Amino acid sequence: MECSFGSSRVWNLPCFQFLFLPISQVQFFSLQLPTNLSCDSKSPLTLVPFKTSSSATTHCTTQLPRPTSISTHERSWAITKRIPSGTRHSSIPHRQNFEEGHKDVNSKLRLKQYSSLLGDCALREALNEGMAIHGHQIKNGVDPDSRFWTSLINFYSKCGDHNYARQVLDEMPEQDVVSWTALIQGFVAQGNCEEGIALFCEMRKNGVRPNEFTLATCLKACSMCLDVSFGKQVHVEAIKIDLLFDMFVGSALVNLYAKCGEIDLADKVFFCMPEQNEVLWNVLINAHAEVGDGKGAFRLFCNMLKSEVEFSKFTLSSVLKGCANSEDLIDGRAVHCLVIKSGCELDNFLSSSLIDVYSKCDLVGDALKLFFMITDHDVVSWSAMIACLDQQGHSSEAAKLFYLMRHTSVEPNQFTFSSVVSAATEYGDLHYGESIHACIFKYGFKLDTSVSNALIRMYMKHGCVRDGARVFEAMARPDLTSWNNLLSGFHDYDSCESGPKTFYKMLAEGFRPNMYTFISILRSCSSLLDIVFGKQVHAQILKNNLGGNEYVGTALVDMYTKCRCMEESYMAFARLISRDVFTWTVMITGYAQTDQAEKAIKLFNLMQQEGVMPNEFTVTGCLSGCSQITATESGMQLHSMAIKSGLLSDMYVSSALVDMYAKCGCIEDAETIFKALVGHDIVLWNTMICGFSMHGRGDKALETFQAMKDEGYLPDEVTFIGILSACSHMGLIEEGKKHFNSMSYVYGMTPRDEHYACMVDILSRAGRFEEVESFVEEMKLTSNASVWETILGACTKHRNVKFGERAAEKLFELNRETDSTYILLSNIFASKGRWAEVKRIRALLSSQGVKKEPGCSWVEINNQVHVFVSGGAHPNIQEIHLKLDELGQKLSLVGYVPQIEHVLHNVQDNEKKKHLNRHSEKLALAFALISNNRMKKIRIFKNLRICSDCHNFMKLVSDITDREIIVRDINRFHHFKEGSCSCKDYW
Ligand SMILES: [Zn+2]
Ligand SMILES: [Zn+2]
Repeated sequence: MECSFGSSRVWNLPCFQFLFLPISQVQFFSLQLPTNLSCDSKSPLTLVPFKTSSSATTHCTTQLPRPTSISTHERSWAITKRIPSGTRHSSIPHRQNFEEGHKDVNSKLRLKQYSSLLGDCALREALNEGMAIHGHQIKNGVDPDSRFWTSLINFYSKCGDHNYARQVLDEMPEQDVVSWTALIQGFVAQGNCEEGIALFCEMRKNGVRPNEFTLATCLKACSMCLDVSFGKQVHVEAIKIDLLFDMFVGSALVNLYAKCGEIDLADKVFFCMPEQNEVLWNVLINAHAEVGDGKGAFRLFCNMLKSEVEFSKFTLSSVLKGCANSEDLIDGRAVHCLVIKSGCELDNFLSSSLIDVYSKCDLVGDALKLFFMITDHDVVSWSAMIACLDQQGHSSEAAKLFYLMRHTSVEPNQFTFSSVVSAATEYGDLHYGESIHACIFKYGFKLDTSVSNALIRMYMKHGCVRDGARVFEAMARPDLTSWNNLLSGFHDYDSCESGPKTFYKMLAEGFRPNMYTFISILRSCSSLLDIVFGKQVHAQILKNNLGGNEYVGTALVDMYTKCRCMEESYMAFARLISRDVFTWTVMITGYAQTDQAEKAIKLFNLMQQEGVMPNEFTVTGCLSGCSQITATESGMQLHSMAIKSGLLSDMYVSSALVDMYAKCGCIEDAETIFKALVGHDIVLWNTMICGFSMHGRGDKALETFQAMKDEGYLPDEVTFIGILSACSHMGLIEEGKKHFNSMSYVYGMTPRDEHYACMVDILSRAGRFEEVESFVEEMKLTSNASVWETILGACTKHRNVKFGERAAEKLFELNRETDSTYILLSNIFASKGRWAEVKRIRALLSSQGVKKEPGCSWVEINNQVHVFVSGGAHPNIQEIHLKLDELGQKLSLVGYVPQIEHVLHNVQDNEKKKHLNRHSEKLALAFALISNNRMKKIRIFKNLRICSDCHNFMKLVSDITDREIIVRDINRFHHFKEGSCSCKDYW
C-alpha cells in the first residue's frame, strides 16, 4: 500500500514553510497560496496540527513511512493526518487501550496515558509512534494539560525534531519553566548549543524564571561552544536566584570553567560547594587531566580519597589520563597499584588508560606487558596498543599487532584504522598503506573523517598527491585537519600550483586556517617562488592572530628567503621571540646566497652571542658567505669553531672550508684540510683542482687530477673547466689540447660552451690567432658570444687590432653589448694611441646607455672588510694618498715607471699618473700597509681584471716591503712575493 503522502511532493514547495510559523500568522500566508494547491485534504490550512482533527482520518496505512527519506514536516503532517484506527501496529504499546476503551476513559486519565506513552517514545526515540499518539490526541479532541504539553516538547526534542518542539511550545497557552527547559535540553542534547543559549535568552525575556535544570542545561551549552563570557552571566544569575549551591548547577559550572581552560575558577566553584559528590570530583579531576595538569589531577584524587567519597573506574581513568598527558610515570605507577588493589586490573577500559600512560612515558615494553595480560581484548585495548606502538615510532610492530588483531574476532574500528594508517605512513611502505586502504573500504570506514585524514596524510607524505586529493574529494564532511593534510602535499615542483587554489577554496568554505594550514601554504609559496601570493598569505596570518606564532614565523622567514626578499625575511625573523638553529640557518644561508655575506657573518656572530649552537648547515652557509667576500678571518674563526664542536668531520663543512680557503687566497690551508680528509667526493676534488688552477698552480691542479683518477673517480664537466683553465694560466697549449680531446674520446662528454671558451683562451692567450680562427670555424663557434669575449680579451693583451675589431663586431652582432666589449675595444685602440677611435667607442658606449662597471677592491683588516672604489671616498683617504706618494718615490728608485699608456683618457701625462694612482687595488694596498695589520700576507680582492700597471706596482711593493701580497681579480689569484708574481706575468 502506498503511503498517503508518498505522492504529495507538494511539501517541497517553499510556501509550506508556514509550518514553522506561529499559528496566528498561518492565515495570512494561506491567502497567498497558489490555487492548485488548495485542494481540500491537502490544503495547507487543514494540515496545520493542533487545529484540525476531523479531516485527518481518511488515508491510513499499516506501513509506517521510512523516516530517513522524508522531511520532518512531511512526516509529521502525514502521521497527524492518518490516525491509525482499526489497524494494528505491534510496536505501539497498549494500542488496544486507544481503540477499545477511549470512549469510557475520561480525558484526564487519557492525557496521563498519552504523556507516559510519549515519555516511552522519547526514551526510544520512536518519532513515528509518538507522532501517532499526538495525532490521536488531536483527533479525539482531548484538551491538553500542562503536563501533556511538556511531554510533547520533551518527546519532539529528544527525537531531534526541534522545529515541532518549538511549535508546540508556541502553541502552549501558558509556557512554564518546565516546558522551556525541556525544549532547551532537546536542542543542547543534539549539539545545537547556540540555539540552546538563544532559547534561554528568549525565555528570560518572556519573564520565565529559570530553575536549576534550566541553568545547568544552559551552562552545558556554554561549555559546548566554549562561550565562557555568557557562562559567567549565567553564573551571576545562579547567584541571584540562590541556585549556586545546587549540585547540578555547580557541576555544570565546574565543567564549563574546566572546558574553557579557566581551571582556577573551576577550582573555586568546586570548593565553594557545600558538598562534593563523585560526579563533581570526576569533573574537576578530568578537567585538570585534560589540560595536562597531571600533578593537579593526582593531588585532587588524593583529596578525594581523604574525603571518603567513593571513586569509580572513571575517576581512575581520569587520573591516568592526567599522568599520561603530563608524562608522569611515578604517579601513573601509584594509580596502577591502586587499580590492582581495587581489583579492576583486567578491566579493558582501565587497561587502555594504563597502556596510554606507559606509552606516553616511552615504556613501550611495559605497555605491551600490560596488553598481553588482558585476557579478553576488545577493540579499545587493541587500538590503544597499536596507537602506542605507532606514536613511539615502532611502526612495523604496530603493523604486526594489527595483523594479529585481524586473526581474532575483534573487528577494527575507526581509531584502530587511524593508527594503522599513521603507522603505514611512518613505515614508508606505500604498498602496505594501500592494502590498509582496501581494508578500510571492506570494513566500511572509508567515510570516517579521522581515517580519511590519516589516509590523506599518508598519500601526501609518499608524494602521491593525486591519491591524497582523491581521498579528500570523497569525504562527506572534511574538517580543518583534512584541508591541512591536503595542503601539506602541495609543495613539490609538480603540485605546488594547487596550493593557492586549495587555500582560497578552504577560505571560501568558511574554514579558519590555523598554524598547520599556514605552514603548508607557505611551503607552496616557497616552491612557487610566488611572492605576491606569499604576501597575501602573510596578511591572512596577521588577520588570524598568528603573527607571533613561532612555527608560522619560521615558515615566513623561509618563504621570504626562498623568494629572495631578504628585507621582509629579516623583519619576520626579528619578530620571532625564540629562534632555533633552523631559523638562524635559513636567515644566514639566505644572506649568503643573495650576495650579502657581511650580513650573514654578522648574524652568525649574533647567533652565537644568543647562545644558539650552529650546526653543519649553519657553518656551511656562513662559510660560503665568507668565500664570497673573502672574509678570511671570519672563515678562520668558523674553522676553529668547527674543530671545537666536532663538525669538521662533516663532508659539507670540510668541503666548504676547502672552498673558503681557496677563494680567500689561502691555497696552502685549503690543501692542508683537503689532505687531512679521509674520504673525498667529486665536489671536493673539483673544489681543490679549480682552487689550484685559480691560484696559478697549474702543476698542482694537474697532479690532483691524476690523484683523483688514481683513486677511481671519474672527472665531470666541472673538473675539465678546472683542468683547462689551469693549462690556460700556465700556457700549456699541447697539454690543454690533449685534455680537451679526451673529454669526448675518453669520457664520452660533450664539451659545453665553457670548455670551448677555455680552449679558445688557451690558444688566444698564447697569441696563436690563426689557430684560434680555425678552431672557431671547425667547432662552429661563430655564434658563441663568450668565445668572442675571450678572443677580444686576448687581442687587448697582444694588441691585435684587426682580430680585436672583428671580435667586437661579432659581439655587437650577437647583441652582447656589455660594457666590457666597449672597454676592451677602446683599450686596444688606446694602446695603439688611436684616440679618435677611442673617442668614437666611448661615445657609442654612452649613447647605448651602457655604463662602465666601476673598479672595486676590498681588503679585510682585523676582521673588518674595507671596500675601495676607484676615486671614491674613505675616512683615511688622505693618509692613503700620502702612503701611495711615498711608495711611488721609493719605487722610482728601483726602476718603476707608471704605464701611462694604459690610461684611456686623452689627458696630460701628469693627470694620467694621478689616474693610475687612484686604482682601487692600489688604495686597498696602501690602506693595508698603513693599518696595524697583524698578518704578514695582504689579501686584496678586485671585481675586475687587474691592470698591467697595478700588477707591476704590486710586484715591486712586495719586494721593498717584504710582504706577500695576494690579489684576486675576476679571473684568478696573483701571489706577489719578492718582486715576482705567481702568474709569471702571464694572465
Ligand atoms: Zn690598475
Ligand atoms: Zn700576476
